[in-house]
Amino acid sequence: MSLFDQVPAVPPDGTFALVEAYRADDHHLKVNLTPGIYRDENAKPWVLPSVKQARAALLADQSLNHDILPQLGHTQFLSAARQLAFKDTLDGRFVTSIQTISGTGANHFIASLLASHLHPKAVWIPDPTWDNHQGIWRHVDPGIERRTYPYYDENTFGIDGDALLSTLREQANPGDAIILHACAHNPTGVDPSPELWEGIAQVCEEKGLFPIFDLAYQGFATGDVDNDAWAVRHFTTRSSGNNNNNNTPLEFAVAQSFSKSFGLYSERVGALHVVARTRDGAAKVDGVLKRISRAEITSMPAFGARIVAAVLHDPVLEAQWRQDLKTMSGRLASMRKRLYEELVRRGTPGRWGHVLTDIGMFSMTGLSPEKVAAIKDRFHVYLLPNGRLSFTGLTEGNVEYVAESIYQIVV
Ligand code: PMP
Repeated sequence: MSLFDQVPAVPPDGTFALVEAYRADDHHLKVNLTPGIYRDENAKPWVLPSVKQARAALLADQSLNHDILPQLGHTQFLSAARQLAFKDTLDGRFVTSIQTISGTGANHFIASLLASHLHPKAVWIPDPTWDNHQGIWRHVDPGIERRTYPYYDENTFGIDGDALLSTLREQANPGDAIILHACAHNPTGVDPSPELWEGIAQVCEEKGLFPIFDLAYQGFATGDVDNDAWAVRHFTTRSSGNNNNNNTPLEFAVAQSFSKSFGLYSERVGALHVVARTRDGAAKVDGVLKRISRAEITSMPAFGARIVAAVLHDPVLEAQWRQDLKTMSGRLASMRKRLYEELVRRGTPGRWGHVLTDIGMFSMTGLSPEKVAAIKDRFHVYLLPNGRLSFTGLTEGNVEYVAESIYQIVV
């Protein structure tokens, strides 16, 4: 008998289990197309040249010490993070920014803040989404309903904008939170048009929803960090002519990750920005976030934040970093083209045009969970069970093999 007999038996996390299965697979042709982690042209981890230079300078600095960071986090990192997300769009807005344990931590902090103090009935999550949105909100407060809004249309490989807007209009309640992928939607690779973003902003105003932008792929959608922050900045600056809330602009949050954009996956670098209407509101958010952070982490880790700050505060390193983003997004775009060509050349049944037009690291293949299992068993090609393919694992050396495997599975 153990006290823990009453604890539920939790199945292993699906994504991590696949990584383990891939590791254990000794087939010489195996290909890992599951992780949202950038790989170079040899499918190896890549340290960005800008990051390498900043890291070398930090490690060579004999005066570097390991004192604790301020409560909100690394000051220069936070100012750079905020500038990256909002640039010069914050006039007349009041923003609280706090360093977090990467994008996961930022999502977690905003969920905690809302759950403890604003008490939303529900959080609206896109269907499909990054698995952990469900996990984070379940963990923070299982009493908050986790509802999904329609996002992806499997028939068109695009967004069902009408269903998205009408679901929110008809079913969301004032005070509910809504998670929005700021760019390079995971897992579908399709983002709203500017018109749809405007529609989403209007519904948020009309219904009094609290938007949470998940900004995990800035620079990966278009290769340009400013283009990729368009939706966030639009919410900051748009004129709010038609809300029922005294014509005041939306308040919202941005959960920002530096895992992908700086390749700092294991360093856990992130920030949460909360945009408030009043100075007073922002000051209160500041206090509550400090309290949450103190209780959970006390103080954020410094190393990754120092690297990001060093890059973004140095014009030469920043220019190199923007080039690094282009290197990554360019390689992914060329792998999209190569896979498309190889699938079409074989006359692979299905529609593949979206592979070329999707954005970021991922596309949905349309393969059923059974076919995903079959391609793993027969060809040792690993995808997520929902059919998501990550282009990060594709290389010139394996793209033909992957296309042939998909062909064999679907004919
Ligand atoms: N949001 C989305 C949509 C993601 O895909 C990810 C990573 N897969 C994250 C947040 C968080 O990643 P991290 O905690 O490494 O920043």
